[in-house]
Amino acid sequence: MKRVSFSHRALEVAGIGLFAVAFVFLSSNALRVGLNISGEVSIGFIALLFVLSVMAADFFSGFVHFLCDNFGSAETPFLGPNFIKAFLDHHDHPQDMVAHDFVELLGNSCLGSIPLLVGLYYLLPLDGSTPSLYGNIFTLMLILVMVLTNQFHQWAHNPQSPKFVKKLQRLNLILSPENHNRHHKPPYDKNYCMTSGWLNPFLNRIRFFDIVAKFLGKSSSKS
Ligand SMILES: [Zn+2]
Ligand SMILES: [Zn+2]
Repeated sequence: MKRVSFSHRALEVAGIGLFAVAFVFLSSNALRVGLNISGEVSIGFIALLFVLSVMAADFFSGFVHFLCDNFGSAETPFLGPNFIKAFLDHHDHPQDMVAHDFVELLGNSCLGSIPLLVGLYYLLPLDGSTPSLYGNIFTLMLILVMVLTNQFHQWAHNPQSPKFVKKLQRLNLILSPENHNRHHKPPYDKNYCMTSGWLNPFLNRIRFFDIVAKFLGKSSSKS
């Protein structure tokens, strides 16, 4: 397995640290506002927002995965070596990612999510109203679940996952090995979603990615 350089490792650690600080800061702000207007806040609606955030993250993970698997190559400028190659290599060596620690799994996602957290702070400020609070809660949960998706993916490949993870997988709350294994069969054109996998059966049934591939100029979702 190719090891990353010390400087890249340091960048990933810094990214996780910065993400954690920004996320805790924004979450505690949302909690403070929520406690101030607790009489107007619906716990049921927040639970619904959580389900919707997992579904949105699942869809996003599937769409990015589909694009990386089907368009461009390892030689594509910037995206090739940084994203596409990892997806293509993963088909040939799916168990390699089991050896990655959480810094390797989450570092890049955390780095990429910091601008989203900054954007949330400035574009959707908490003004004490329930819409801004709900918007912040949904966006924070969405970003957190998107960041954790790579870890869920690794757990789906890791037979030695912790017991609580296996429980979450059995309950279908996170991506299960059974759900994800359907992707790892040539031509690798099913079950692209990797957060919870909830959307995979539906998107397979309506041939969503085949339709998008045709729309984008491919005769099938896999060449
Ligand atoms: Zn793939
Ligand atoms: Zn995989």
